[in-house]
Amino acid sequence: MMAAMTSPALPPLREVIARHGLAASKALGQNFLLDEQLLDRIAAIPGRLQDRAVLEVGPGPGGLTRALLRAGARVTAIEMDRRCLPALAELAGAFPGRLRVIEGDALAQDHDALMDEPYAVVANLPYNVGTALFTRWLSGEAWPPRWSSLTLMFQLEVAERIVAATNGDAYGRLAILSQWRTAARIAMKVHRSAFTPPPKVMSAIVHVVPGAAPEGVSARKLERLTEAAFGQRRKMLRQSLKGLPGGLDALDAAGIDPQRRAETLSVEEFVEVARLLSR
Ligand code: SAM
Repeated sequence: MMAAMTSPALPPLREVIARHGLAASKALGQNFLLDEQLLDRIAAIPGRLQDRAVLEVGPGPGGLTRALLRAGARVTAIEMDRRCLPALAELAGAFPGRLRVIEGDALAQDHDALMDEPYAVVANLPYNVGTALFTRWLSGEAWPPRWSSLTLMFQLEVAERIVAATNGDAYGRLAILSQWRTAARIAMKVHRSAFTPPPKVMSAIVHVVPGAAPEGVSARKLERLTEAAFGQRRKMLRQSLKGLPGGLDALDAAGIDPQRRAETLSVEEFVEVARLLSR
């Protein structure tokens, strides 16, 4: 509440968009959020942000950015649409020293190098860019990561794949990547009508925090394993792991019946097979 009381008065987002001619670009996957109450609720998902560093990807006209600033965060925002820069410069002026805007493609940036302290990631991104960045943030051998949490908008169907439990259609590579050393949950569902213009599908915000990495497991090996196992998800593991060097032996050593199919293996079972493959 304190932060809201001391926040500068800002023009309505619709006015910012109109004044800077920010007609939503389909090519850039632009669907803007304009409801400030909703934006404040999203900015509250990562927890207390007062004086914390936040990396925002795709600020656009700055709706989520202003909510993060109101929550007291120090924001670094990467935006590739040059048209948004004057609107973001105005926002930086209203919160002196708290917003740094970087123009460019977030997929081409080294985020850890941009941030000189641990940071929370918050973003409302186009689907394809979001999934590519998400996969990157969760991959790699180094763990724990520099980021302290990820709060990301996805289309609902992708969010459901991220948090999926064993044995369902939504369970696959993305679920294992998202769950083997992180805790992932759907923090909020967002109706399509909340966006301007509304996308065709429903959305949801996923919140991810890093956990302990299981000992002796190579992230790369686990990735190879799930790639092979779910590459032919309807087949028995005996068949789908044939082409993976050491795959069938590791399955045997883990005591897993090769007649099972990939989607019946728990995240822990995948981790155990990957540990044997990592030896
Ligand atoms: N954050 C704003 C909001 O919530 O209203 C805008 C969200 S809009 C769905 C996605 C934003 O990401 C757009 O501003 C778009 O220009 C930007 N964007 C798309 N691809 C990007 C990329 N590769 N790197 C950085 N920004 C990108």
